[in-house]
Amino acid sequence: MSACDSDALQYRLGDSLNVWSTKWVLDANMLFCAGCSRGQRARDANQPFRHGDGCRLSSEVTLYPWRELAEMLCTVLQAPA
Ligand SMILES: [Zn+2]
Repeated sequence: MSACDSDALQYRLGDSLNVWSTKWVLDANMLFCAGCSRGQRARDANQPFRHGDGCRLSSEVTLYPWRELAEMLCTVLQAPA
């Protein structure tokens, strides 16, 4: 991978994390939806996330936000420096 490719990857990862952080709030071992403020514990990461009634984000975000965060962080760690 060239330095240019690495820069592009880092940019995409940063962008993905920025988008993710506009929809989710991480607080200790809890993850909260920014649309309805419902939360999910880290130990329930393999359960689908349950939004509150009428949540504006429920149709546009993943059902497994912990997994999405973990995948992004793994990609960051695997990216060349
Ligand atoms: Zn929600």
